[in-house]
Amino acid sequence: MRWKEMDYAGWGRALSAHGHVARPERSRDLKPLSLEGPAMGNRRSYGDAALNGGGRITDMTRLDRILSFDETTGILEAEAGIMLGELAEVFAPRGWLPPVMPGTGFATLGGAIAMDVHGKNHHGAGSFGAHVTEVTLVGPAGEQAVTPEDLPLFRATLGGLGQTGIIARAKIAMKRCKGDIMMVTERRAKDWDDHIALLDGSEATYVVGWIDATATGAALGRGIVEEGETGPGLVPKPKPSRKVPFDAPGFALAPPIVKGFNELYYRRVPKSGRTVVRPIGKFFFPLDKVHDWNRLYGKRGFHQFQCVVPLAAVGVLRDMLEKIAASGLASPLAVLKRMGAGRAGHMSFPMEGYTLAVDFPNRDKAVALIGELEAMTEAAGGRLYLAKDSLADGARIKAMYPEHADWLEQVRARDPDGLYLTDMVRRLDLRSDA
Ligand SMILES: Cc1cc2nc3c(=O)[nH]c(=O)nc-3n(C[C@H](O)[C@H](O)[C@H](O)COP(=O)(O)OP(=O)(O)OC[C@H]3O[C@@H](n4cnc5c(N)ncnc54)[C@H](O)[C@@H]3O)c2cc1C
Repeated sequence: MRWKEMDYAGWGRALSAHGHVARPERSRDLKPLSLEGPAMGNRRSYGDAALNGGGRITDMTRLDRILSFDETTGILEAEAGIMLGELAEVFAPRGWLPPVMPGTGFATLGGAIAMDVHGKNHHGAGSFGAHVTEVTLVGPAGEQAVTPEDLPLFRATLGGLGQTGIIARAKIAMKRCKGDIMMVTERRAKDWDDHIALLDGSEATYVVGWIDATATGAALGRGIVEEGETGPGLVPKPKPSRKVPFDAPGFALAPPIVKGFNELYYRRVPKSGRTVVRPIGKFFFPLDKVHDWNRLYGKRGFHQFQCVVPLAAVGVLRDMLEKIAASGLASPLAVLKRMGAGRAGHMSFPMEGYTLAVDFPNRDKAVALIGELEAMTEAAGGRLYLAKDSLADGARIKAMYPEHADWLEQVRARDPDGLYLTDMVRRLDLRSDA
């Protein structure tokens, strides 16, 4: 296998690594590679989850074949490097969708399993792992198909950060859909209480709130709540994707620009709301149309803060938003969602409650603010999402994930020599007891 020595980074570009990367094309190469180091997908995790600085890592993106699909049960088997967006494109016209889709179609099947990702349908469908029926792991002890019946290992693998072995392929239960377009209803939420009431009152299959994190005073928490259902029909073909060709200068996301953008974005939906028809990709993956949009934050990159807090602690999110709005540091990307209880693994992020995600440019003031938001999350009995984290410390994460010890027991049994350690696992000291 050829190893390429290179610099590579997480999606936020604030954390990067230098090391050797292999990009195998044949699944039989995975056996020897599984003795060299961990795996990565498309590095859509923001921090260092998919980095192995100074070591070796296997890039799974060429192992992207669909192996089988059963039209009667909806069970699909595919190699782990396939992207969820590709699955949606191929299957939606045939009446099937991946059961759960995160906000980017570039996430791979392996990455979706290793982070147990959630989507706009989390309140009804649970996390991605709830729809996985088998994962084939390759590791020091050979190849093993793991199903929900192998419970402790299954739960350590879903949302398990790739620490139980390389996921070579998986079977998932696809979800029926009516076609490859979305009927999307957008409503303005005029303030925080309105926003929460709209999220709580929604009965749609897919629901998400965009929040104007620059709004203060009576407008604090205003935004747009989007509800979606799949449907049959025709919409014009989406325009080709655009690229951000260079690292944007520091002023590109300066506070007045973000404030102005957010104002326009909020007002794009009429006061009385509207229902529109959209191509499926535009609804699920709104940012994917602009390739490398992470370069808009300039060379220093950015961080995303994402937490979830229990239902009863919803007021804490309002307090957070007040801090964020007052800081003048927020970017246009801020999302609020009500989550259900569904989670599939010991280290899976979801809990019943509300999740808030906000992007911040990588500056000292933002790092300090994120530290405060993390402490508020912990005090509220919530947790941080590891797919987004680049700043937390291990003690805080272990306190937020009470099943850490169960995960660790399985990980130690599967990977006694620490082959699959990543920069994140080292930074958070996740392979040590609490
Ligand atoms: C614009 C954007 C929107 C997003 N929206 C959401 C969202 O709505 N919901 C959500 O849950 N997440 C969301 N995410 C996060 C994203 O879904 C996760 O980070 C996901 O894991 C990315 O998949 P990936 O293939 O790029 O994995 P990577 O980031 O490359 O890797 C993630 C982890 O999986 C491990 N891994 C990857 N492949 C394998 C494999 N084959 N075997 C073993 N381990 C493996 C890696 O070691 C790493 O620990 C979003 C990210 C972006 C950039």
